[in-house]
Parts: sequence; structure tokens; C-alpha cells
Amino acid sequence: MADALVLGAGLAGSAAACLLARGGANVLLLERESRAHHKVCGEFLSVEAVAHLRQLGIDPAALGAAPIKRIRLLDGKMEVEAPLPFEALGLSRHALDEVLLSRAEAAGVKVERGVRVLELGGGGVRTSHGSRTGHHVLLATGKLPIREGNNSPPRRAANGFVGFKMHYRLAPPATRRLAGTIVLALFEDGYAGLQMVEDGRANLCLVLRRSRLPFIGGDWNGVRRWLGENPALRNLLADAEPLFERPVTIANLAYGVPAHHGEDGAVLRLGDQWGMTASLTGDGMAIALRSAFLAARCVLAGDAGSYPALIADEARRQVGRAMLLQNALQRPWMRLGGLRLAQLCPPLLTFMAGMTRLPEWELSDEGSGVIA
Ligand SMILES: Cc1cc2nc3c(=O)[nH]c(=O)nc-3n(C[C@H](O)[C@H](O)[C@H](O)COP(=O)(O)OP(=O)(O)OC[C@H]3O[C@@H](n4cnc5c(N)ncnc54)[C@H](O)[C@@H]3O)c2cc1C
Repeated sequence: MADALVLGAGLAGSAAACLLARGGANVLLLERESRAHHKVCGEFLSVEAVAHLRQLGIDPAALGAAPIKRIRLLDGKMEVEAPLPFEALGLSRHALDEVLLSRAEAAGVKVERGVRVLELGGGGVRTSHGSRTGHHVLLATGKLPIREGNNSPPRRAANGFVGFKMHYRLAPPATRRLAGTIVLALFEDGYAGLQMVEDGRANLCLVLRRSRLPFIGGDWNGVRRWLGENPALRNLLADAEPLFERPVTIANLAYGVPAHHGEDGAVLRLGDQWGMTASLTGDGMAIALRSAFLAARCVLAGDAGSYPALIADEARRQVGRAMLLQNALQRPWMRLGGLRLAQLCPPLLTFMAGMTRLPEWELSDEGSGVIA
């Protein structure tokens, strides 16, 4: 039996596994995918996410991450731009998750790829490759629910958002216009983010209400036409070369923090399994990493039971504010009023970007024991 059985090798799972192994625990990490893969994500690394990655010994800038210093908000023909209150970075999840997983392996974590977790229960899990057990189970399988013994059906109901992601090689003038900026385009039933990542690629990522899909054609071409309703976004994407055969997609996105049952420290919920913050604030990865630091700290101290209260204390306010903003922007009059205000006073945008951050953490040497 492993000291810690970590489920899912995304940011939360790999970071927790790495920290636990560095702390001397015997860790088994299970991941469904057998190789590096793309994930639906805006790939905007906030200042807190970057700080946590550096604590883990990973420098996103050294991996070619693109610097992002400004935010440009679009709604129809309206446009407002302001500096971010911090420097962010753009790096693909394809690259980042793989580096983090390799750090976990280098720290001594036993990794099993191509193993799908089917059900949790009884101090372990049932997987596509038999049962696995662990003294502590860390659930970090991301956005979609996992069956938990008798507690089925899954604990989250779908609230009707779908997500899409596509990488592009933009036309040179568009690349120049986008450099250093995260563009956020608001629509009636969703929003889209466009920014540069490494290797001169641009990442387009969006969420929209599922109920809107049939009205725009129900497929990626329809989504592209829907996005094209925004003239500035249409311009940026004109003559762009798609770099995937088809977009990466996810359905049934359930934002917010669900009520967790059985918070007794037996199963520690990390990252999106703890809760999903509004994507437009670009802080989900920071929450995933913070949850990993907290969970590893609690397990190594022999006090796993205090983890749920600690993560709630750290992240609930961020999720609350982010969800308020996301819900407000879904209402046309709030969107219009908000953008008019921001046009009159662009520092308001900078202020809002600062409001939706996790609390700062004093950085210690925690986790940085093995820096490759
Ligand atoms: C549209 C959208 C845009 C976003 N944009 C941003 C952004 O720009 N910046 C930001 O900070 N955050 C963003 N987020 C949030 C961010 O993507 C997540 O918060 C973050 O990925 C959570 O990390 P995680 O480790 O919890 O889950 P994930 O990164 O999803 O990792 C989960 C891992 O578990 C594996 N897995 C899943 N099911 C199983 C199973 N049954 N068995 C075994 N393994 C399994 C998966 O393959 C995956 O590797 C966005 C989210 C969405 C939906």
C-alpha cells in the first residue's frame, strides 16, 4: 500500500505527488492518458501560479512562456485595455503538465499512465487495471466527477457550460497586435480568451452555454462564426492557421465549489475536484497548485483532516468573487455598464484583475528541495 495514492497527473496531482515524495512519502500517481495531451485551458499563468511553479523548481519563462502584461476586454464594438496588476505568462498545458510530471517522477513518485480511475471507495480505487490502495487518497482528476462507492450518482450536476480550445499560428500583424496581451471577448452566453503561448503559437479558449450550441450550428464551424460576431476577435483570427485537426473540448463544466461529503481526511480533493473557479479570472491553475501545497503539507504533518478547512480558507473568497464577476458579465446590461465604466476609467480593469487573485503566500523553501 502506498503512503499516498494520487489520482490524476494534472497540475494539482503531479505537484502534490512531487511534494509528498520530496517529503519522504511513498507515492503512487495514476493518470488516465498514456502520453502528453492538450487540455481545455486558457493557459494564462497568473502571478500566484508562477510563484508556486518556481517553488517547485520550474521556471515557465525558461520553457518559452510568453509574457502577458495587459488585458484587452471586448464586447461587440466596444474595447477597453489596461495593464494587469502583475506580469502573467502564457504556456501550453501540453508542455507544462509534462514537465511537472517528470519532476514528480524524478522525486521518486511511481507513475502509472494509461490507468483510468473508475470508482473510489474502501481506502483505494477501482481502476481499468485493477485495484490500487493508499493510506491517503488524493483526488485530482480535474473537472469531471468520479463515482464514489454508494455516493452515486456523481456529486456534481452539469450546469450547462461547454469548453473549446484551439492553437493557432496567427498572421504576423495579428501576432504583433496580440503580443503581451490577454484578449477577453465577452458574449451573451459565454466568453473567449486569446493569448500567445510558447513557440509563437496563440491559444484560443472559450466557454459557452450548452443551450446556445444548437442555435449556432452545434459544431466548431458554428462556434467560429459565433466568435466572428466580435469584429476585433474576427480580425485577430483572420488567416490564422489552426494547429490541431479539431479543437479540444469538454462538456458539463460545473463552476463553483460543490458540497463535499465525508470530509474526514480519507479523500483529499485537490484542484478542480475541490472546486472550479470562473475561467475568466485565470486563477484555476494557481488554486490547483495551492491545494497541492496544502494537501502535501497536511499529509506529511500527519494531519490530513485539517486540509479541507485550510483550502477553503485560502480559496473560497477567490471563487466567490470570480463567480460574481462571471455571473454579472452574463447579463447584457451589466456587461455594457461595466465596459462603459472601464472605458471611462481603465484602472478599474486593473483593479478587477487584482481582486480575483488568491491571497499571497509567503514563499518558503517548501518543496524546492530537489531543483533540477
Ligand atoms: C475554459 C477554461 C479555461 C481556463 N483557463 C484558465 C487559465 O487561463 N488559467 C488558469 O489558471 N486556469 C484556467 N482554467 C482552469 C484550469 O484549467 C484548472 O483549474 C486546472 O487545470 C485544474 O488542475 P487540476 O490538476 O485540478 O485538473 P486537470 O489539469 O484537469 O488534471 C486532471 C488530470 O486527471 C486526469 N484524469 C481525469 N480523469 C481521470 C480518471 N478517471 N483516471 C485517471 N486520471 C484521470 C486527466 O487526464 C488530467 O491529466 C480554465 C478552465 C476552463 C474550463
